[in-house]
Amino acid sequence: MKSFMISPPFGKDNLKIEEMDMPLKEEGNVTVRVRKAGLNPIDYNLINGRILYNLAPIPHVPGSEIYGIVETDGKYVKTGDRVIIYPRVFDGTCEYCLSGREYLCPHGGIWGVVTNGGYSDFVSVPEKQLFKLNQQMDEDIAVSLPIGGLTAYHALQRAGAVPGQSLLLYGASGNTGTFAMQIADSMGIEVYAVSRNSWVREFGASGIFTHDGVPAGFKADIVINSLGSSFWEDSVRHVANGGSIVSFGVQTGRESRLDIGDLYTREIRIIGSTGGNRKELMDLIRLSERKQFKVRIAKKFSLYDLKAAMAFFETKIGGRIILEN
Ligand SMILES: [Zn+2]
Repeated sequence: MKSFMISPPFGKDNLKIEEMDMPLKEEGNVTVRVRKAGLNPIDYNLINGRILYNLAPIPHVPGSEIYGIVETDGKYVKTGDRVIIYPRVFDGTCEYCLSGREYLCPHGGIWGVVTNGGYSDFVSVPEKQLFKLNQQMDEDIAVSLPIGGLTAYHALQRAGAVPGQSLLLYGASGNTGTFAMQIADSMGIEVYAVSRNSWVREFGASGIFTHDGVPAGFKADIVINSLGSSFWEDSVRHVANGGSIVSFGVQTGRESRLDIGDLYTREIRIIGSTGGNRKELMDLIRLSERKQFKVRIAKKFSLYDLKAAMAFFETKIGGRIILEN
């Protein structure tokens, strides 16, 4: 089988296709034939050598968001089952794992970072990380749930989102943003997207603002800011008194200013969010089956054209980049 490997000094020009042995049968693991993989900021940054903390092994197979077909029978999944991979490694025994927060497990990390990922013909994965899909689930949706979908779902859960609230979303046209709009809309939340792309309306946004066009007095119960510092002060300005700001990305920078007086007199909640747990992934799969979520595809590439896909990523054209095998 073939796998993409990256090693220092990193960068797409150092990606190599290697002929590897098929994964050995390990206790608790099953082999999955990779059908589709997402190319997300995490993969892009890892290949460019910007994610070195806990990166193992080196040389490394990148690829954290995978949809595939089970190749060997396990205890719960059988050959031919369509599955997605929960992209977190966890021990299952610490206080975080035992309280349903396996994504915070200090003895784990992001699958595809602390372990090899799935830019490969086959991967061997612990069965506890596999989620079965029904036959109707669209493959492009399937490969978008483990990271984009789950991050959005968990962020709304963290904010305590309930029907009737309003959401202002910075970073609406990304993979996470398009799911945040659809999930929030399906929950009865009024969605306002900050985006230069008018197509975000098709994903449930009832209002669209440009980056500098959010009206001065506009307030939302929940502000999702996945972009970091550039929009931090705007996020604080536009959150309603008693509202929540949820952050899960630092694409435009990681430092900002905060008026602490503003924070407490207006009872603003600032909430960090990362990934999501397996129960949320299961709930999200069920929700996607009922709601027929959509993804916007920027472009599809063969997995073997990973270098071209990496170059396309830099065009920042909104929508998903999907690798097919
Ligand atoms: Zn743990």
